[in-house]
Amino acid sequence: MEIINRRKRMMSIARKLRRDERRTIGFVPTMGALHQGHLSLIHEARALCDVVVASIFVNPTQFGPAEDFDGYPRDLTRDSALLAEYNVDYVFAPTIEEIYPPGFSTYVTVEGLTDKLEGAARPGHFRGVTTVVTILLNAIRPDFAFFGQKDAQQAIVIKHLVRDLALNSEIVTVPIVREESGLAMSSRNVYLTREERIAATALNRALLKAGAAFAEGERSAGRLIEIARLTLESEPLARIDYVELNDAETLQPLERMNGRPALLSLAVFIGNTRLIDNLVLGKAERNAAGANA
Ligand code: AMP
Repeated sequence: MEIINRRKRMMSIARKLRRDERRTIGFVPTMGALHQGHLSLIHEARALCDVVVASIFVNPTQFGPAEDFDGYPRDLTRDSALLAEYNVDYVFAPTIEEIYPPGFSTYVTVEGLTDKLEGAARPGHFRGVTTVVTILLNAIRPDFAFFGQKDAQQAIVIKHLVRDLALNSEIVTVPIVREESGLAMSSRNVYLTREERIAATALNRALLKAGAAFAEGERSAGRLIEIARLTLESEPLARIDYVELNDAETLQPLERMNGRPALLSLAVFIGNTRLIDNLVLGKAERNAAGANA
């Protein structure tokens, strides 16, 4: 496994792999502080592609001024050891200046999809994400790039970006990896105290409660949201940022489920730590032939 810091070297290696060796490249972008969620993306990439490139870059432009950019967990030594263990071929770990050279002034914005949910709660967040992902995809030009369903809106936005800018990479979404307690894995979970870590299981419990109501026939968005809210509100350490039900593809807010899959999304503060989680409802509303029931 080689660790690459320079954008130019990353570009020339990727070009050689593609052109001279005709090998397929799988790319897994991360901000490091790796956990089993990240490693499941690596696992998928390893299964699907000849060469796996992972990036580790805590991207300053996707953090708001009051957010945790400075304190975000960083441990390149541990991360590199994990990636080597998972047979990653190249780790791209650029400095900020490699990605944003002096005078940098070009940003990529996906409109519409980014003005709701995380985009509404974190102004400028997606502009930072779509800009860095465009730079990384353009440098590496992977055949496949892997994103977690944990950040469901991000995966949708990136798919849209790739389509609109005709980038030649296929975006693969990988299911959420959870701890045994149900807590979705996240680099930010290290911020939680022991008590908060237990309280944080309320997110998954809220989703499961709403999921159970859906399974029993509930289709009103208001009711499904209310069920999730009640579970969150019964947890004293939890403070809701938002609970929303949106069309799982277009992210349009829903009043009633309409036979199409819907995304139930939560953003919740547990103490000072903001966590997100989600569940897709209605994926199973398909019969054996694959048509909508
Ligand atoms: P991050 O390092 O937080 O930017 O995450 C890098 C990638 O890992 C993103 O595509 C995330 O959606 C994905 N990811 C993070 N946590 C999980 C998880 N628990 N399960 C699956 N994917 C995840």
